[in-house]
Amino acid sequence: MTTDLNLSLFERAKQCIPGGVNSPVRAFKAVGGTPRFIKKAQGAYFWDANDQRYIDYIGSWGPMILGHGHPVVVEAVQKAVVDGFSFGAPTEREVELAEEIIKIVPSIEMVRLVSSGTEAAMSAIRLARGVTGRNKILKFEGCYHGHADALLVKAGSGLATFGQSTSAGVPAEVVQHTLVLPFNDIEQLEQAFELHGKDLACLMIEPIAGNMNFVRASQAFANRCRELCTQYGALLVFDEVMCGFRVALGGAQSVLKIKPDITVMGKVIGGGMPLAAFGGSKAIMEHMAPMGSVYQAGTLSGNPVATACGLATLKEIQKPGFFDQLSQKTQTLTQGWLAAAKANGLPFSVDSEGGMFGFFMFDELPQNYAKVMTTNSQVFNQLFHGLLDNGVYIAPALYEAGFVSAAHTNEDIATSIEVAKKVMAGL
Ligand SMILES: *Cc1c(COP(=O)(O)O)cnc(C)c1O
Repeated sequence: MTTDLNLSLFERAKQCIPGGVNSPVRAFKAVGGTPRFIKKAQGAYFWDANDQRYIDYIGSWGPMILGHGHPVVVEAVQKAVVDGFSFGAPTEREVELAEEIIKIVPSIEMVRLVSSGTEAAMSAIRLARGVTGRNKILKFEGCYHGHADALLVKAGSGLATFGQSTSAGVPAEVVQHTLVLPFNDIEQLEQAFELHGKDLACLMIEPIAGNMNFVRASQAFANRCRELCTQYGALLVFDEVMCGFRVALGGAQSVLKIKPDITVMGKVIGGGMPLAAFGGSKAIMEHMAPMGSVYQAGTLSGNPVATACGLATLKEIQKPGFFDQLSQKTQTLTQGWLAAAKANGLPFSVDSEGGMFGFFMFDELPQNYAKVMTTNSQVFNQLFHGLLDNGVYIAPALYEAGFVSAAHTNEDIATSIEVAKKVMAGL
């Protein structure tokens, strides 16, 4: 009998849940080993089934920007729970959250609340198609927009061809309208618009991508996306599920100073509860049912407990200096890791914005997915397990970003740098 409770839980989980997990990356398939089953979390830490403590740099993949169990958020949720879990009728809190989002993000005049980023991105595509009367959509390799059929697509064999599905169970007919291009490639973007621009309903992009590690759209590339969409009458959709309210209060659009037509949000706006949204100008959003003819609905949409959690979280991150302090901590961490790598003669580069970061085992920052995927996975996996064994939990895959929360103390950051130094010396 094993005494590793993570291992025994994983064995048990595999008997009743496919692969033992409810979202694939949790299974540690990329890095090997046993996933940690989390028992509880507080502040910057969580504890696994063996009561081992970790400094958490995934933060539920972004939402836990305040750290775990922030007292103000916990209180808001506890109060909301007593008043009821779900009504299937509107509440004031939904209005408050919508007003809050509109106040923070200038490109949004109206917003629809849903329960997951997948749902929000899928609905945004339907809306773009409904508004423009066009079918085709454009996305970029390495950007993840949830698992709706039309978005599970990789590039076709050439610029003129549309995508191929990346999942079994997605009919070719469903992805034949999705065009996939390399990220940050202006030339291919221009050619694609020349060929297909007048048929495109929208271009969807993670403006600061967090699903191919951390890769930002260059300013020139982002500008060109905006210009070409305007020129050809396609809608520009920023998927800010991960970077929104995370890289800066106003999201990547405030960093890049670009106004998208539709913004997709999730993660931070729920503060760790199932809540996501999509929004844009009134002229666009008024196409949604029951005002307009684009249908979308949800039993748990705008859930009263989730909205309480999201509202309390958004209030906290608007406090003066919040993002300055968060950015500072994130930079201290990434610069510390960079120095540790250099001291050990390892190729390394780092980038970050607000509370989101990436590090790469290259001397220069990669600009697209293809480059990210040339990372030496064996070395990454050694680094990952070395950090994990020493109580520092980063994403268990080299193509994921990292997250720092307001609850991480300077001491946590210093410890994480010391651990990395030690681990890197052994690589
Ligand atoms: C997480 C994520 C999604 C999907 O959100 P879920 O809530 O997991 O469905 C969509 N887009 C981006 C950019 C994401 O990071």
